[in-house]
Amino acid sequence: MLKPYCVIAVGLFSIPILLQRLSKCSKIEKYFEKGMSEMDNKELANLLFPDVTKTPEYYEELYPKRNLPEGAIVTRFAPSPTGFIHIGGLYASLIAERNAHQSGGVFFLRIEDTDKKREVADGVSQIINVLRDFNVNFDEGVIGENETDVGAYGPYTQSKRADVYRTFAKKLVEEGKAYPCFCTEEQLELTRKRQEAVKARTGYYGQWAVDRNLSNDEIVEKINQGLKFVVRMRSPGVNNRKILHKDLIHGKVEFPENDIDHVIIKSDGIPTYHFAHVVDDHLMRTNLVIRGDEWLSSIPVHLQMFATMGWEPPKYAHISPIMKKEGETKRKLSKRKDSEAAVSYYFEEGYPNVAVTEYLLNIANSSFEPWRRSNPMTPYTEFQIKLSDMNASGALFDLVKLNDISKDVISKMTGEEVYSYTKEWAEKFDSELHEMLTRNKEYAVKMFSIEKGGNKPRKDIGKWSDVKNQISYFFEDKFDHQYDFSEKISEEDRKAILNAYLETYVFDDEKQVWFDKIKAICDKLGFASNNKDYKANPDQYKGNISDVSNVIRVALTGRQMSPDMYEIMQVMGKEATIKRIRECL
Ligand code: GLU
Repeated sequence: MLKPYCVIAVGLFSIPILLQRLSKCSKIEKYFEKGMSEMDNKELANLLFPDVTKTPEYYEELYPKRNLPEGAIVTRFAPSPTGFIHIGGLYASLIAERNAHQSGGVFFLRIEDTDKKREVADGVSQIINVLRDFNVNFDEGVIGENETDVGAYGPYTQSKRADVYRTFAKKLVEEGKAYPCFCTEEQLELTRKRQEAVKARTGYYGQWAVDRNLSNDEIVEKINQGLKFVVRMRSPGVNNRKILHKDLIHGKVEFPENDIDHVIIKSDGIPTYHFAHVVDDHLMRTNLVIRGDEWLSSIPVHLQMFATMGWEPPKYAHISPIMKKEGETKRKLSKRKDSEAAVSYYFEEGYPNVAVTEYLLNIANSSFEPWRRSNPMTPYTEFQIKLSDMNASGALFDLVKLNDISKDVISKMTGEEVYSYTKEWAEKFDSELHEMLTRNKEYAVKMFSIEKGGNKPRKDIGKWSDVKNQISYFFEDKFDHQYDFSEKISEEDRKAILNAYLETYVFDDEKQVWFDKIKAICDKLGFASNNKDYKANPDQYKGNISDVSNVIRVALTGRQMSPDMYEIMQVMGKEATIKRIRECL
C-alpha cells in the first residue's frame, strides 16, 4: 500500500507533467471542438475555387511528357503583348530558338498576357510578325490573333489557361500550401511602413504575413462578408538559409531562401507571372528556360514553387541585357532613351533582318565572327551557339559593328536581291526612292549588280536607307551637280583630263581598252600611268593614274568613292555618260 507521503511526493514531482498534460489536453480539446465545426482544407479549396472542375491529374495526362531524344531542348519565348518589341526580346528568342533546334528539340511561343493593363490591341500579331520576319521559327504556339494554336500543349496564351492555374492553386489550398489573403492595398502599405520603421525587410512573410494564420472559420467569415482575396503560396523558406542555383550562363549563384508568401492568384482570379510560368513550364514540359536576367533574382521564388508543387524544375539560362556605353559607364539599352532598343528601328533604318540576326549572334558568342570568316557562305543556322560562351555581364551594343556586318551581308546578295529588298523597304519608308527604283526596273537592277559576284564584291551599302544617296547620280533628275573634286588637281588639269577623256571615249570599248585610254591621258598630261613609276619619282608627275580616274569619277558621280567606274558608265549608257562629263566641263 502506498504511504500518503509517497502519494504527495509523486504527486509533487508530477505536477509539471500533469499540468503539461492538462494543457495539451485542452489544446486537443479545443482543436477537436474547432475541428468539428471548422471546414477542412478540402472544403475550403472548394469554397475558394467553385469553378474548378478538373484535377491536376487530368492536366498531367492531357500534357504528357514529350518523347524526345536525350539532350533535346524544349524551350520557349514568352513575351507579353505590350506592343513594344525590344531588341533584347528578339535576342532572347533567337538564342532560345537556336538552342532548341540545334539540339533537335522544340521551340514554342507562349503569350504571357496576365497583365491586361500593359496589353495593346495588336500586340500578339506584332510579336508573331517580328519572329516570322527574323526567321525565328517556332514549332508550337500562337500563330495568329484569331487562329487555332499549333501544338498539343496549348492553349499557349495564358489568359486562356485560367482553369489550369486555378486547378493547381486549388490543390495547394487543399494541401495547406496556399491560403487566401484578404489584406487590402492600404493594409499592405501600412505593413510596409511598419517594417521600414523597425528596419525590417519589407514583404509579406513570417510574422508580417498575418493572414497565413487565419483559421478556416475566419476565412469563411471574410468570404461571407464579400471581402476580396488573393491566394498566396505559404513559403516554407527561411531567409537566413541559402540556396545555390546553377545558371547555364551565370554559373553558380547563391541566394537567400525565399520566405515571402507570394501571390499566386490575383483577386481577379488571374495568376501572377511567377505561378503561371511554373505551371506552364511544367505542363508544357519545358526543360530549359531562357529569359532575360531581370528574372534571375526571382529564382529562389521559382525554384521553391516547383518544389512546393512537387515538380522537377527546368534548367535556367538568364541572358544579360544588351548594354550601351554612356560616357565611361555602361547601362541597359533603354526603351525610353535609345531608338535602337526597339526592333522597329532596324526595320525603319532598313537593316536586312539577317544582318541584325548575325549581329545578335555575334553579341551572343564571340566565336561567331571567326566562324563566319571561315564559312562566308554558310547559313548562320549552321553555327552551333553555346550558352556557356555567353557573356554574363552584358555585351555592348555597337552600331558600327552592326553596319559592318550588314555591309558584309548585303555584299553577298545578288543585284536582283538588293533591288527587291530596297524596293520593299522604300515602299514603306521612302516613296521617292521607290519611284526611282520602279520607273525602270532593269536599269535599277543593273545598277545594283555592279561589282557583284566576284571575290571582292562591293560593300558600299549598309542598310536600305543608305541606298538613295548611293545611287542618286544614276538618275539625271536626282543628280545635284555638286562635285567633290580633290584640291590636289588644278582646275586647268581637270578640264584637260575631262576634255581628253571625251575625245577618246568609246562606249563599246572593252574594259582593258578603256583603261589603256586613261593611261594614255596620263602620259599625255604629265601624270604617272602606273603607280610604281609615280612612287619612284613623285616629283616628276602632277599626280598618278588614280588622280586622273578620280577627276573622271567626280565628274560622273559627284563623289570620289564609287563602285567600278567603267561599270557605272556601262549602266548609265553612252549618252548619259557624255552628257554628264560635258555638264561638268
Ligand atoms: N513574360 C515574361 C517577360 O516578358 C517572360 C519571362 C520568361 O521568359 O519567363 O519578361
